[in-house]
Formats: sequence, structure tokens, C-alpha cells
Amino acid sequence: MPLPIAHSAAGLAGYLAFKKAKPDSPPKQEIFLLGLCLFLANLSDLDFVPGFLCGDPGRFHHGLSHSLAVGLIGAMIFYRFAGYRLKRISKKRVFGCCLVSLLSHPVLDYFSADTSKPFGVPLFWPFDTEYYISPFPLFRIVQRNQETIGTFFATILNPNNAWGIAVETLFAGTVLFAIFAFKSRSKPVLSLSSLLLSILCGLFYYSLQIKPNLIV
Ligand SMILES: [Zn+2]
Repeated sequence: MPLPIAHSAAGLAGYLAFKKAKPDSPPKQEIFLLGLCLFLANLSDLDFVPGFLCGDPGRFHHGLSHSLAVGLIGAMIFYRFAGYRLKRISKKRVFGCCLVSLLSHPVLDYFSADTSKPFGVPLFWPFDTEYYISPFPLFRIVQRNQETIGTFFATILNPNNAWGIAVETLFAGTVLFAIFAFKSRSKPVLSLSSLLLSILCGLFYYSLQIKPNLIV
């Protein structure tokens, strides 16, 4: 699984992708929708909570909350609730934001390295109970000792995860600058500058990502 940095970047990307150039909705509703996107993009990892409660943090992790079907159902539920609060934002946009944010999570986890069984995520549950993982990982494994709550937090800060923060920050820059370049295409200078920044982040991301994977 990636860190919350890459997941939050996916949620922010979902928010920006559906945002109008000049939104006519109240700023409070825009902030609520942005917060909802960030929350939903990380929601699947709340499957750590029951594990924390029973003293075995990783016990339920990468379970059914990492299925695309559960993400779709979650998007419909959150869309219903958010729709009442976001009356000035189009229904299509709210649903699109909920859907992209929730589905981005299992997809990013699919592209992450994983060293503990079962490898990957149950992407197609309940239609298929297999776990799937990409042969080309885009994110490093988050290293931690999940035996107890104490070891989980004591081992979460380490050089591997610090490297992961750098990699995921560059991944976020690559995606977000690319969206910004597309969104500002009516302003050629701004759009081109954003595109160049996206390419630059992408090149650094690639070089930082590949080297440690070869070492591991
Ligand atoms: Zn996850």
C-alpha cells in the first residue's frame, strides 16, 4: 500500500478533475467536497481500526474494503449523504468525485509492492476472491512491524518509508501538475509551465522509485 500522500493526491486529483474553471458554488461547499474526496481516497485503510482494537493491526488489512465493488457501493452511499449538504454542486460532479476517490484506493494499492501474504488486493470481490497485484510496482512497500500496536508505531518511521514519502510527493506532483496543465489549457504559458513541472516530477519520481526497488 502507498502512504496517505499518494492516496490523498488521488482524491485531490478527483476533486480537481471535476471542478469547473469558475465554480458558482459557495466556498464552504467546495471545501466540504474537497475534504470528502481526501477522506474517501483514504477510507479503505480504516480496515486497520478493527485490527488495532484487537491488538493485531494488520489482521483485517487489505480485506474487502479494497474491492472495486465495495468502492462502488460506498460511492453511492456517500453520494446520497453528501448530496443533501452540497445542494449548489451538480449531482454528477458529487458522484464523480465520490466514485473516483473511492476507486482510486484499491487501484493504487494494486500498483504497490507487497511483501506479506496474500499479496495485493481482492480487486474483484465478490465475483472473484483472488488477490491481484501489478507485476510493475509504482510504489514501495510501507515497512512496519504489525505484530502489536506498539511495534507498529515504533517501526513506522524508518529510512525506507522516508524514501517512500519523497517518491509519493513526486508522484503527487506529476499527477496534479498534469491535471493543472490540462485545466489551464486556455492559458498557454501557464499550461506549458505546469506540463513541464509534471514531466520534471515524473522524471525524478521514476529515478527515485526504480533504484531502491533494485536494491530490495
Ligand atoms: Zn489500502
